[in-house]
Amino acid sequence: MWHSAVSKWDGYLLPCCFDKDANYKMGNLLENDLDAIWHNQAYMQFRKSILKSQKEIDICKNCSEGTKVWETV
Ligand code: SF4
Repeated sequence: MWHSAVSKWDGYLLPCCFDKDANYKMGNLLENDLDAIWHNQAYMQFRKSILKSQKEIDICKNCSEGTKVWETV
C-alpha cells in the first residue's frame, strides 16, 4: 500500500496481498498507468482509512503488518 501493490492477471491493482477476493481494486493497469492509479482518489482514501484506523478495513483488522503505531483508539 505504501511501497508495493499487487497486480492481478486482469490488470486490477490491489493495495495488498491480503485482499484475496480483490474487494479493494484501486484501478486497472489496462486502463491507467501505475503512477495515475498510485495517486488516485481510491488509493488516497484507502491510505487515509488505514491511518485513521486499521479496524475500518476488513482485510486489515487482524493484520500484524499494519500501522498500529500510528493508530488512534
Ligand atoms: S494493514 Fe495489513 S492487510 Fe492492511 S494493507 Fe497493510 S499490510 Fe495489508
